[in-house]
Amino acid sequence: RIEVENLNVYFDELHILKDVSLKIPKNAVTSLIGPSGCGKSTFIRTLNRMNDMISTFKMDGTVLLDGNDIYDPKVDVVELRKKVGMVFQKPNPFPKSIFDNVAYGLRVHGINDKDILEQKVEESLRSAALWDEVKNILDKSAMGLSGGQQQRLCIARTMAVEPEVILMDEPCSALDPISTTKIEDLIHKLKNDFTIIIVTHNMQQATRVSKHTAFFLHGEIVESGFTEKIFIEPEDKRTEDYITGRF
Ligand code: ATP
Ligand code: MG
Repeated sequence: RIEVENLNVYFDELHILKDVSLKIPKNAVTSLIGPSGCGKSTFIRTLNRMNDMISTFKMDGTVLLDGNDIYDPKVDVVELRKKVGMVFQKPNPFPKSIFDNVAYGLRVHGINDKDILEQKVEESLRSAALWDEVKNILDKSAMGLSGGQQQRLCIARTMAVEPEVILMDEPCSALDPISTTKIEDLIHKLKNDFTIIIVTHNMQQATRVSKHTAFFLHGEIVESGFTEKIFIEPEDKRTEDYITGRF
């Protein structure tokens, strides 16, 4: 599980996340919702230290993964990103073969045995519900796949290194409804074995896929809890206004 305590994030003098605390349960799906610019992407990027790459990034507070502070100077960031994988809004396969995309992370982590790679690539593609569509074209470029297939490939690539947590930043917003349904089905399949955090602007999607939801506004969490509770009887008027589109 992930515990975020009193997190503040700044880019230069801009105070982006303000004293955010959130507990994200293990092996369940949590949705992050809220208007554009409220800090959802910044928040999830803090969970695998992706913001570290931004020179103006500063933070205080703690982010614990299974009780361990991920910002402890002793933490190996490459190992952390193996545990906490990320899938982006726009599918971003490498301009390599389908096989090499999925094998990429395995090779980074020192797995080079051909049989093991083949087995893990197949497993990952099966878990991402893409195997049947690509099993005969593994040596073809990933760039030739459709957007929806590319997104499932990116999920397979993330899953190949067996993460505990999968961060998804609007994974369906560039996809058609059928591809979106496939990704949602996939999330349902994975939800008991992975901790999944999904940012979405699609309220129906949040109710369909997630057990927990947090509503962000202006860099703060207004309300979080069971998705049903947030959507059926929110405690805060601002949550109600947002989810009913009266914002
Ligand atoms: P959206 O729904 O549009 O994706 P979001 O909730 O994901 O929005 P963020 O991308 O986290 O919002 O941005 C939160 C705020 O931080 C915005 O005001 C944005 O302009 C600012 N911001 C994000 N990245 C940087 C950066 N690298 N430098 C300066 N400001 C940034
Ligand atoms: Mg965003």
